[in-house]
Amino acid sequence: MGYGGFRGGVHPFRGKDITKEKAISEYLPQKELVYPLSQHIGAPAKAVVSAGDEVLAGQILGEAAGPVSANVISSVSGRVRVIERRMLATGVISDSVIVENDREYRLAPGIGKAREPKEMTKEEIRTAVKNAGIVGLGGAGFPTHVKLAPKDDDAIEYVIVNAVECEPYLTGDYRLMLEEAEGILAGLQVLLRLFEKAKGIIAIEADKPEAAKRMKAAVEEKGLGDSVEVCVLKTKYPQGAERNLIFSLTGRRLNSKKLPPDAGCIVSNASTVHAVGQAVCEGLPLMNRIITVTGNGIANPGNFRVKTGTNYGELIEAAGGFACRPEKVIAGGPMMGMALTVPDVPVTKTSSALLVFEKDPVAEVKPGSCIRCGRCVKACPCRLLPLKMWQACKHYNLELFQKLYGTECYECGSCTYVCPARLSLTQSFKQARMMVFDQKKQARSKTDGIQNQFQLQESAAPDGLR
Ligand code: SF4
Ligand code: SF4
Repeated sequence: MGYGGFRGGVHPFRGKDITKEKAISEYLPQKELVYPLSQHIGAPAKAVVSAGDEVLAGQILGEAAGPVSANVISSVSGRVRVIERRMLATGVISDSVIVENDREYRLAPGIGKAREPKEMTKEEIRTAVKNAGIVGLGGAGFPTHVKLAPKDDDAIEYVIVNAVECEPYLTGDYRLMLEEAEGILAGLQVLLRLFEKAKGIIAIEADKPEAAKRMKAAVEEKGLGDSVEVCVLKTKYPQGAERNLIFSLTGRRLNSKKLPPDAGCIVSNASTVHAVGQAVCEGLPLMNRIITVTGNGIANPGNFRVKTGTNYGELIEAAGGFACRPEKVIAGGPMMGMALTVPDVPVTKTSSALLVFEKDPVAEVKPGSCIRCGRCVKACPCRLLPLKMWQACKHYNLELFQKLYGTECYECGSCTYVCPARLSLTQSFKQARMMVFDQKKQARSKTDGIQNQFQLQESAAPDGLR
């Protein structure tokens, strides 16, 4: 097994020094909480509460509706004020359950009850993960219980914990490894119970030697040296993209039509694995996210454990408020995140960071014309031809876009990052891909099963890219 790199990629400014020494601190929300019923890939959850209902922390607010969907869980106790449409940081509008927080954080019956995974069947483990509402916390939001149910458990050779966190500025997973390594290992051990023939791999980038040291020590302390390996990978963006990660670790290639199990792998982000451990061993559903709030426009950057549903505006206050009048606020990392125009949006399961910058580096940049320098081609980890795809997008030629394998693009942003003409390549590809998938969706029969949803997962976003 080689731990080499993948072709392409870029080396953006890391920006992690701002918060890498900031321990995770808990923030308790003061205002009402907003729980979108659609904060995962697949069908929106179906609300099982109504306005006026009293709810407890850990209680299901929305039930998974369909084979690819996820429960939505209340992270506080209080009262449902209303169910209405709200905007998410991604700009998506979703039906959402609005809960008035009583600030008592009373748990629902049975929540927080310890369990021994060794005494649970595989089915019970998968059910516990499903009930906990866990989705890929690396950004994709694909329901984890579906991911953990490949066709053949015995064909899985590697369970990979994606602890790469290659997006600049983000340090949440890094802090989790330093502070709660045992929790990540507990989750990995649960996964290895599902895939008994697999070896566990914890993948970490070389710029996080302390985290690698901590995870290696935890593996040794638990006596897992024979079944779990900590692998240190080259520091290069987007090392954490699922396809790149699998290639770097196993030499096996995937395209958007294939899934990690086709390469004998299950890949889960470090926070997701930690959440699996909490759900199965401690009976705790997914109620929190670790969010890095950072940038030169925020007064006290840090890492916060935040209840899902918390308003981003509160998070800004928790980090001391703005240090200036920021020109740019981004939900997520700078490579794949979304510019935030209003802070009045909720933290969801896939939230990871809030970046605040005094200056917007691209605000006054005027896009030029392609000078055919080829830098985008060199940077593309998917071996695509972004300059030609750009021409196809410019002429609204979706057929050509597909002929150029444009749907293989996973929107990593590397081509945009290196383009001297400042063309908004990734944004165009994102729109073109959405249009292609919309067209295909319309053409597909409604009886498409779970396999298509898996493909949607791969095409929608690379899990664990951060
Ligand atoms: S990097 Fe930009 S300018 Fe250079 S070839 Fe690609 S699209 Fe054209
Ligand atoms: S955004 Fe798409 S085309 Fe551009 S480098 Fe990434 S994968 Fe390649």
